[in-house]
Amino acid sequence: MSFGKLERVDLRDIWGHEASGFTPWLARDENLAELGQTIGVKLELVGQERDIGSFRADILCKDSLTQNYVIIKSQLENTNHAHLGQILTYAAGLGAKTVVWVAKQFTEEHRAALDWLNHISKEDFEFFALEMELWRIGESPIAPKFNIVSKPNEWQRVVIEASMASVLEEEIQERIQERTRALQQANKALESEKQSLTDLSSTDQLTGLYNRYKFEDLFEFEKSQMLRHNTKLSIILLDIDFFKSVNDTNGHNVGDAVLKELALILRASVRSSDVVVRWGGEEFIVFTPKTTLEQAQQLAETIRDNVKSSPFSHGRQLTASFGVTSFEEEDGLETLIQRADRALYRAKELGRDNVQIDRHNPELN
Ligand code: GH3
Ligand code: MG
Ligand code: MG
Repeated sequence: MSFGKLERVDLRDIWGHEASGFTPWLARDENLAELGQTIGVKLELVGQERDIGSFRADILCKDSLTQNYVIIKSQLENTNHAHLGQILTYAAGLGAKTVVWVAKQFTEEHRAALDWLNHISKEDFEFFALEMELWRIGESPIAPKFNIVSKPNEWQRVVIEASMASVLEEEIQERIQERTRALQQANKALESEKQSLTDLSSTDQLTGLYNRYKFEDLFEFEKSQMLRHNTKLSIILLDIDFFKSVNDTNGHNVGDAVLKELALILRASVRSSDVVVRWGGEEFIVFTPKTTLEQAQQLAETIRDNVKSSPFSHGRQLTASFGVTSFEEEDGLETLIQRADRALYRAKELGRDNVQIDRHNPELN
């Protein structure tokens, strides 16, 4: 096995100018990453050649963890007083917490100056002196190397703390995400709970039809629609004939089953814009927006036929009586129901299993 020989390459051989060669090279992502790795700081480039008074910072970065400014001074030559002066001016002007001075070589006095700055500075200020070296073996690509010649006193500790901080930050992020997920789930559960409570308060448990309270809401809405669009609105009130005898003969459970079956027949007999309501006990309302009295009367006849011709759990024919009416100008829900009830009463009186209408004007009846 043959070994190569490491050779130093002069910086000037590679970069003719500081501003047009070395500094742009150093500002490249991969080189900033390498430099950052050397000093234990994750660097985010803010810009190059940023003006501070009459001076300019060669490279301005941020510490990605703390978001504090990091200024980087690059120098192709040995260090000198002018550069030190510039560095301190940049740092003061920007309020930078980290100063990185990269040079070909540090004179003893400038290295000592940075050591002293590190010594007297509070913990969160740091000064790094780095010598830039270039190496190669034979014709190999040139390898850069940053050599630390001055660093903060507590640097080791700070690097460890920084890496711990990033671990902690990740953990916190994870917990926040977990918490957000849990909250979203809880919200969803709450929504569906709310929905089922709304369903409970608006539907009848036995038949699943809307209940009286929901009907009152719907009525107010449909009434306003009707007045706006100048349409008709009718209701059909129906009551099962001799239902008590179903309970008496077949028991309450069969009675319940018959009520459910009737609900299905009602639903199947109406349009989707009509609403079927369990008004109470064995009484139901079919609420028909945009429907005239005559149309509602026809629908009631159809329902009467459907009920009469359907099989039920108690094994006998079931019939119902119907009262139909339409909304008139000065009506409220109460007067509308009153009229429908009056018509229904007449239907019962006339022998059940029939449809009666009630117009507002008694003379027309
Ligand atoms: P009519 O033809 O005059 O309407 O006679 P009917 O027997 O249907 O009327 P009535 O008012 O005398 O009886 C109604 C019955 O409906 C009495 C009541 O126990 C029964 N009922 C009311 N709600 C329910 C229910 O949810 N389930 C069952 N199984 N029965 C009910
Ligand atoms: Mg009744
Ligand atoms: Mg009845």
